[in-house]
Amino acid sequence: MKWTKQKKIISVIILSCLSCIFLILPILMPQETAKQNNNLQKVEMTVSLIEQENEGALLVQKKEIEKKFINMVYERLDGTRISYFIDAENGSKIELNDLIKEEQFPQFEEKIKELLYKKYPKFIADILASNQGEIAYEIRDTELIIYYSNFTITPAPTEELTLTVDYHEIKDYLNFKVQLKDEKVVESDNNLKNERKYIAFTFDDGPSGAKTKKLVDTLEDNKMHATFFMVGNRMALQPETLKYVLEHGNEIGSHSYTHSNLKRLKKEELKQEEFNTNLVYKNITGEELTLLRPPYGNINENMKETMNYIFVNWNIDTEDWRYRDSEHIYHSIIDKVEDGDIILMHDLYDTTIEAVEKVLPELYVRGFQVVSVSELAKIKGQTLEPKKVYRSIK
Ligand code: ZN
Repeated sequence: MKWTKQKKIISVIILSCLSCIFLILPILMPQETAKQNNNLQKVEMTVSLIEQENEGALLVQKKEIEKKFINMVYERLDGTRISYFIDAENGSKIELNDLIKEEQFPQFEEKIKELLYKKYPKFIADILASNQGEIAYEIRDTELIIYYSNFTITPAPTEELTLTVDYHEIKDYLNFKVQLKDEKVVESDNNLKNERKYIAFTFDDGPSGAKTKKLVDTLEDNKMHATFFMVGNRMALQPETLKYVLEHGNEIGSHSYTHSNLKRLKKEELKQEEFNTNLVYKNITGEELTLLRPPYGNINENMKETMNYIFVNWNIDTEDWRYRDSEHIYHSIIDKVEDGDIILMHDLYDTTIEAVEKVLPELYVRGFQVVSVSELAKIKGQTLEPKKVYRSIK
C-alpha cells in the first residue's frame, strides 16, 4: 500500500538522523566532558586552598549562585568574618564588584553608604563607609549581609557591626537574579535595641539660635533626641529654632514665660506665665505644651494646684552653668548615669556642646539611648500625669 511505503520512508529518515546524532555525539562529548572536568578541578582546587587558609575557622556559608559563582564565608575564632567569591566556570577568585553591573557600581556603593548612616551613628558610619577595615559579604536568598571587622572606631563599639541589605534595595545593581521578600525591610535600628538603657537629656533656658541648632545636629548625628525646656519670652524671638528642634525628632517643654522663681508668684501670676507661654508656643508650632521645667527646679503646692503641667525636674545635674568645663560635664554624666535618669544641661554654652559631642558616642557604646522625656516615659510604659513631679523615669 502507498501509505505503508510512506511510513517506511519516514522511518528510514528518522533512523538515519538518530544514527547521525549517535555517530557525532561521541566525537564531541569527550572534549566537552574533559573541559568540564578540568574546570571542576580548578574550582575544587580554589575551594580547598581557601579551606586550608581558614583552617580552624567556622565555615558559615558555601553557596553556589546560578552556577555562576560560589560564595564562601568563614567566622574566625575572634568572631570576625572573611568571605570569598569564586567564578564557578573557571575557578578563579573574583570580587564583589564582579557581581555588580559595572555601570551601576557607584549607585550600589551610594546605597550601602545611605543604609549605613540610617543604621549607625555618624561616628561609626563615617568609619565603616571609609573601607579602612575588613568587609565580608554573605549572599543570602533574600538579602545580602555585610560584616565589618577590624575597623578602628573611637570609642570602640562592643556589638558586631553588620548591615543586612534587603534585595529590594539593590536588585537593579546586581549581575544575578535574586528572590525578593514580600515586604521591603530596611534595617535602621541598632542590633542592641532590646538591650539598651534609656535616659533623657534636657536643655534649659533656650532657645539660643546656633547653639541650640548645633545640639540638635549633634543629637541627630548620634541618633539621639532630647527635651528642650524653653523660656516663653525667648520663643517668640526664634520661631525658626523651635521648628528646627521639633523637625529633628526632639521635644519642647516650657521653662516659664519670664524665668521667674515661680514659688514666689501668686496664683494669677502663675496662670499668666502658663497662658503666655502656651500661647506663643501654639502660635509658632500649632501644638500644645504639656511639660514644665520650673526655673531653678522650684516647685510648691501652689504651683501644682494652679498649673496644669507635668512637672519635670532631674536627678543628674551637670552644673554646666557653674563650671563651664566640658570635661566636668562629661564626667558628671558618664561616671554615674543609670537607666531612666533625667539629665540637666543648658543650651547656652559651647562647653556644654563640646561635652555632648564627646559623651553621646561614649553613651552609645555603653548601651545607652538618649531620648526625650516623653519618649523615656513611653519606653518605660509610664503615663506622665499633670501636676505630678518627675525626677527620673525608671
Ligand atoms: Zn533655667
